[in-house]
Amino acid sequence: MLKYSLLVSFFYISFNIFSQDLNNVKRNVDQLAGPSFYGRGYVNKGDAKAAKYIASEFKKAGLLPANNASYYQKLSFPVNTFPNELLVKCNGVVLKPGVDYIVEPNCPAFSYKGMVSFVSFNQLNNESYYDSIGFKQSYAVLDTFTPKYSQTAEITKRKFLKNYKQPLIIELSNTKLTWSASYKQGNRCHITLLNSAFKRDTVLYFEINIKPKFIPKYTSSNVLGMIKGTSNKDTFIVFTAHYDHLGIMGKSATFNGANDNASGVAMMLELAKYYSQNKPYYNLLFIAFTGEEIGLIGSDYYVRNPLFPLAKIKFLINIDLMGNGSEGVMVVNGSLHGKEFNQLSAINAKNKYLPQVKSRGKAANSDHYWFSEAGVKAFFFYLMGPYPYYHDVNDRPEMLPYANFENAFLLFRDFIDSIR
Ligand SMILES: [Zn+2]
Repeated sequence: MLKYSLLVSFFYISFNIFSQDLNNVKRNVDQLAGPSFYGRGYVNKGDAKAAKYIASEFKKAGLLPANNASYYQKLSFPVNTFPNELLVKCNGVVLKPGVDYIVEPNCPAFSYKGMVSFVSFNQLNNESYYDSIGFKQSYAVLDTFTPKYSQTAEITKRKFLKNYKQPLIIELSNTKLTWSASYKQGNRCHITLLNSAFKRDTVLYFEINIKPKFIPKYTSSNVLGMIKGTSNKDTFIVFTAHYDHLGIMGKSATFNGANDNASGVAMMLELAKYYSQNKPYYNLLFIAFTGEEIGLIGSDYYVRNPLFPLAKIKFLINIDLMGNGSEGVMVVNGSLHGKEFNQLSAINAKNKYLPQVKSRGKAANSDHYWFSEAGVKAFFFYLMGPYPYYHDVNDRPEMLPYANFENAFLLFRDFIDSIR
């Protein structure tokens, strides 16, 4: 009987590491990308709430605090935030922030009630036209799209925007809204408005009120936990994922960032739990970075203020966008580290974890970048497969397909175990 139950539990552990744990993953994503974390930005302490949650999960898993007795590494940086509700009203209709329009993240305070000129695409193409109507005096709604993407149109638009000196520009767009974050304030309020939300009346009366809050020194934290390896060496494998996202754009538009990157943090927490029960060969350092979305600020700070010598990092794995994976995984820096990439591909081929392991070159598109530049060997993984919600209000927990989360976990685990 005892023999039998041991056999059953062995079978269970080796083939079903994830059977109960995908629920746990979803619980973590629901939390991190839920309403109480305000999109893990810098309004209502969204970032600090997420950091505290991650630190407590590290502690629960048995990870050691990596910064003396603390799981945190504090840093500060400037950030432009939107704590106040935005108002954009066109001919009496209040437009919905995040759904109908976004404001550029570097938008300064701006308030206006009055007429706005409409510039059609054909007029935009005709410099003598917009010179003649004097855009030095007037605000504009720009019809900048063509039925198909055209480079000429793009160049025309850029030229217009460069010459246009007014503090307000409203740009119509046919493509989905994609927001971002900024560490500075510019001098123009640039609103991108969905073409489908805009009514082409001959007279355009706008009411606009945007009250951002620029914080010159916002204090946030990287979160770090570690597991001592069995080799007794001072060498590390570092596993990183950014936990910040874009926060809120006024009270009614939250950018939850479920895929970007609550999913990656959830993956990190699963690996942390796994390795605290199955000790790794090298020491394992887990870092959840802040400030990624506004310019890789948390990782830049860490690389300049490392808690352990960077030269002791055997390999670094950075992950983002773990919500799908139906089309495999992309490996940034794959072509830089051929030996490790072949090792990874062989593991995947042998176990048939993911349909594809694709390699690309260097890219400054996430936190691995500063480590790479400092001479640390690093891969940046993001899962591929259809998921249209990038940097918008639809990137919510219930949208994630989790097509290959478990297999990606197994691939990372086997890859970590294969590094000597
Ligand atoms: Zn991201």
